[in-house]
Amino acid sequence: MDAYRALLLQGLTPTPSTTVALDQCAGYTLAEDVQAPWSLPSFDNSSMDGYAVRHDDVVNAPVRLSVLGDIAAGHVSDIALESGQCMRIMTGAPVPAGTTAVVPVELTDGGADQVVINQAVDAGAYIRCVGDDVTAGTVVLTAGTTITPRQIALLAACSIDQVVVHRKPRVTVVSTGDELIDPGQIPTSGTIVDANSYLLLAAVEAAGGVATRVKVADDEQAFLQVILDAAQSSDLILTSGGVSMGVYDTVKAALGARGGVSFCKIAMQPGMPQGHGQITHDGSTVPIITLPGNPVSAYVSFEQFVRPVLRAMSGAVALLRPVTQAIMTQAMTSPSGKRQFARGVVSGVPAQVRPVGGQGSHVVGGLAQANCLIDIPDDVVAVSVGTTVSIIDLREDA
Ligand code: AMP
Ligand code: MG
Repeated sequence: MDAYRALLLQGLTPTPSTTVALDQCAGYTLAEDVQAPWSLPSFDNSSMDGYAVRHDDVVNAPVRLSVLGDIAAGHVSDIALESGQCMRIMTGAPVPAGTTAVVPVELTDGGADQVVINQAVDAGAYIRCVGDDVTAGTVVLTAGTTITPRQIALLAACSIDQVVVHRKPRVTVVSTGDELIDPGQIPTSGTIVDANSYLLLAAVEAAGGVATRVKVADDEQAFLQVILDAAQSSDLILTSGGVSMGVYDTVKAALGARGGVSFCKIAMQPGMPQGHGQITHDGSTVPIITLPGNPVSAYVSFEQFVRPVLRAMSGAVALLRPVTQAIMTQAMTSPSGKRQFARGVVSGVPAQVRPVGGQGSHVVGGLAQANCLIDIPDDVVAVSVGTTVSIIDLREDA
């Protein structure tokens, strides 16, 4: 399984870089390092509402000082404090010259012309000094970092209003099957609502790509046409269904006959039948990954194989989700010779996990409850209560 993932990742190049405005850059991955143009904070300022003082004046508190005026955030005072003087200052305001500490208003009588400082503070207290967060010129974010709200705060604070990122990989997600109807339609006997193209569209977007969905019947010609069209407009094609051992497995039949795509069985559950290759058409060559049809199989395969591919195409350094340990609170079995990715619910510290939804790969009810995958090695056939297992944490999607 790891070898198959490595094979899919081989030779992938990140998408070209592009410039994106700060308010649009969440979810993109940086294509270049970002340097701080100046230090943060960029001026010494107060971290509290209180009084800017000379520290020597307050060491023997209680003490009375004369208040020379107010400094609100966004305003600068040209006053320099002398002995016995202070200024009332608000959080974020630049401290006046001569300030060596700020006394929070809570430690004073709050006076406007004169103030009684009731308690001494340490030298330098409540002053946020230039550069104590970020030093000018340092690399604050490295290429390959995916931008989240936390990085956006830093970029904005550095007054960076656009960033150079990798273009989001464009993915066409193709659902196959005569039985598929669209959400919103009433299922009749024999029909199944197309869950996969919606599942995969959302999964692609959560992984940093942009997706288009297509649903096509089990018709080899129609399917091939969809694939060839997708090759003109996509960086990656994903299909679901039609790759197992049935007589009407359209994906396998159509692409097998065309060539360029190979099909295999991976020793994992769910998600055994897989396929990958390239579609070359009209001068474009686009990688394709064919996933199994059952929604849980499609999801687990996406997590194991497609998500890392999309992360790599997006230019991200971190391709895999965090793997942690948890203690099983419910026993379960696992097939011999296959690595199982059971859906689980993890909670608590230390982490405890229980399987959810059973082993059926059609069980979308269980899938929806899961917040992790329990990774059971291929040589383990039973896991008892109290066993420590590895889990792949899916909670960052929440
Ligand atoms: P297949 O490999 O095409 O035989 O599909 C395996 C199982 O997954 C069948 O029960 C299909 O009906 C089901 N399936 C295939 N595609 C989808 C889909 N897009 N949404 C929901 N179920 C699907
Ligand atoms: Mg099918």
